[in-house]
Amino acid sequence: MKCVKCGHEGAHTDFRYLYNARIDASIAVRQCPKCGAWNSVDELTGEAGVEVVAGGAPWGKSAGVEGLAGDVAQDDTG
Ligand SMILES: [Zn+2]
Repeated sequence: MKCVKCGHEGAHTDFRYLYNARIDASIAVRQCPKCGAWNSVDELTGEAGVEVVAGGAPWGKSAGVEGLAGDVAQDDTG
């Protein structure tokens, strides 16, 4: 697979496995050993999908974990 962020190429097993994005699909999240970007990857084909960023889950919302670690409010300064 090829990192969608820095272009680093390697076997998808060289990318650190983080978790399975969906229990009903072969999409997993792996971290680039070079730049640390999170890539979604199809475990069956080894093809990288998209970079995984907070709030941008390419497979849609799931598990209800979004929002558990919310951003710090910006309106507490005054
Ligand atoms: Zn990378």
